[in-house]
Amino acid sequence: MHSSVTTNGNQRTMEDVPLRDIIQKYGSPCYAYSKQAISENFLAYQQALSSRNHLICYAVKSNSNIAVLQTLANLGAGFDIVSVGELERVLMAGGDPTKVVYSGVAKTADEMRRALEVGIHCFNVESESELILLNKTAAETNQMAPVSLRVNPDVDAKTHPYISTGLKENKFGIDISRAYEVYQQAAKMDHISVVGVDCHIGSQLTDISPFIDAMGHLLLLVDRLAESGINLKHIDIGGGLGVRYQNETVPSLASYIDALDPLLKDRSETLVMEPGRSITANAGILLTQVQVIKKNGDKNFAVVDAAMNDMLRPALYDAWMDINSVEITSDILKSDYDVVGPVCETGDFLAKDRTLAIKEGDYLYLSSAGAYGFSMSSNYNSRPRVAEVMVDGDQTHLIRARETIEDLVRGEQLVKEQ
Ligand SMILES: *Cc1c(COP(=O)(O)O)cnc(C)c1O
Repeated sequence: MHSSVTTNGNQRTMEDVPLRDIIQKYGSPCYAYSKQAISENFLAYQQALSSRNHLICYAVKSNSNIAVLQTLANLGAGFDIVSVGELERVLMAGGDPTKVVYSGVAKTADEMRRALEVGIHCFNVESESELILLNKTAAETNQMAPVSLRVNPDVDAKTHPYISTGLKENKFGIDISRAYEVYQQAAKMDHISVVGVDCHIGSQLTDISPFIDAMGHLLLLVDRLAESGINLKHIDIGGGLGVRYQNETVPSLASYIDALDPLLKDRSETLVMEPGRSITANAGILLTQVQVIKKNGDKNFAVVDAAMNDMLRPALYDAWMDINSVEITSDILKSDYDVVGPVCETGDFLAKDRTLAIKEGDYLYLSSAGAYGFSMSSNYNSRPRVAEVMVDGDQTHLIRARETIEDLVRGEQLVKEQ
């Protein structure tokens, strides 16, 4: 997919803006996203699905900044949400609630009320308890809740165990062997309208076959349901298409859609997809500055001003992310470094064993940081969260201000002494 940074001479740029200018204007660390890359990645889905009824619901959790959502909403995207917080973000960004699908393993009654109020496309229901609660909640306002059951097809996505979600030992969805029965129950409920079926088997898939297996399982269920008089309007295959972080061979979107085609060619159901990472990952970078270079034993460390609280993926998944200098210099010798943050955890690293020509004060950028970067960030170690910037041609826009110390303690209070 699209890589958002290009090299011109000894400068690196995002669209038409040198990375150095972004840091000079907004400080370090900061996230920068290419509006063009986000748009192109979304339009590639639209293009690949143009020959059939489809709905592309961008997975908000991968990058939930409202300006990112706005970019996608303007292109006609739908959204996959997992909380009311995400729903409110979509609405603020001008997203269309009738294109929202709501996933999540334990939606509360309050969350259901709000989603019913704004009229979402459907609830991806993940348990029988949730179905009962939703029926009851919809009854309060005499509404019909549109429902798709999220089934767990017991397919091995062959990805990192923490981001595999479609095995029967994972917490997600309804066991596919029970789904038929739960559909029969749902169809009898007074305030449930059965509209679809859904699965999401995992993230960062680099092989198409698990998607095809999962679709096969869904279609068997869809046909069995049709025989019993339950006709579904849409089939949602979830998200999960991988991106290239290092040297993974990632199937192209076109080859994925082509592989689904024989299964879907005589079907009229709308195909729903919930891509997150494949839209935003390669559209974003994390810019950071080298604070300290030190040697412990045989190891060289470059301590930078971004840390695991800003980008958790390396610490959480042992994820490999590419890191490079913002400016290319020839006057510094190369060495091997572990690039680490200042947080008090040994797991606080961004990249290990990288050959870099750097000195203290230099700027680096972490590539493919647009998904599961800022959205997973925290204030651990009382670190204010970093700024986010949208690059658009030769323009830059601050889309989230760097947090202040006031932001850090917002809502906290001292206990009044007697
Ligand atoms: C996280 C998630 C997605 C998006 O996954 P990506 O790997 O980012 O494409 C889609 N659907 C559901 C239900 C999710 O939980």
